[in-house]
Amino acid sequence: MQNKIYIKRSSRKSIALKIDSNGNIFVYCPLRYSTDKIINLLQEKKQWIQTHLQRVQVQNETNKDFISYKKILILGKDYDIKCSNNKINIGNLYSFDYSKDYIDALKKWLQKRAGEILKTKLEYWANIMKTPYNRVGLTSARKKWGSCDNKHMIRLNFRLIMLPMECIDYVCVHELSHILQLNHSKKFWQNVSKYIPNYKEIKKSVSQYSFVLKLF
Ligand SMILES: [Zn+2]
Repeated sequence: MQNKIYIKRSSRKSIALKIDSNGNIFVYCPLRYSTDKIINLLQEKKQWIQTHLQRVQVQNETNKDFISYKKILILGKDYDIKCSNNKINIGNLYSFDYSKDYIDALKKWLQKRAGEILKTKLEYWANIMKTPYNRVGLTSARKKWGSCDNKHMIRLNFRLIMLPMECIDYVCVHELSHILQLNHSKKFWQNVSKYIPNYKEIKKSVSQYSFVLKLF
């Protein structure tokens, strides 16, 4: 893993260190923060950086078959991908034809299934929560699982289809709760916990799937 350091100066007041899934280190700091100070900071935080980089490496190793599209996750279960004679086989579960790029074909197939399942799930929770939304759409966002705007339009990331059903439920309840509260206040989480009492646990497992956001 090649670790690059990126320095992002802006009008912010505080300093933050972040490490992405490629092992790149980002230093966010105020405009006048000197390079010497940054070097000192990196020295001070050496232990933290090393621990984090190791974690990224372990995660990438664990997920390497998904990252290289040898395997695919569907509703939290993993399946082998086999391609031959312009046919894709996903475990013993699904099989369909493709012409050019198998990854592209897989993406389209996932998007179609995501459309069906995610919309049904959202509808289900909207009924239970008695919280009607305006419209729902699928996104391919790289950072967010879902969103809800002030016009009550909900967007769900098609990659959610790769996560276990309980994670999909959580994201649906989360976005629907934004119809009542557009923030992440105490009241908001109280509403989420009414329907998903163990939401904290599920929220953590959703974050473990963040590598999925980079796929396709
Ligand atoms: Zn939110």
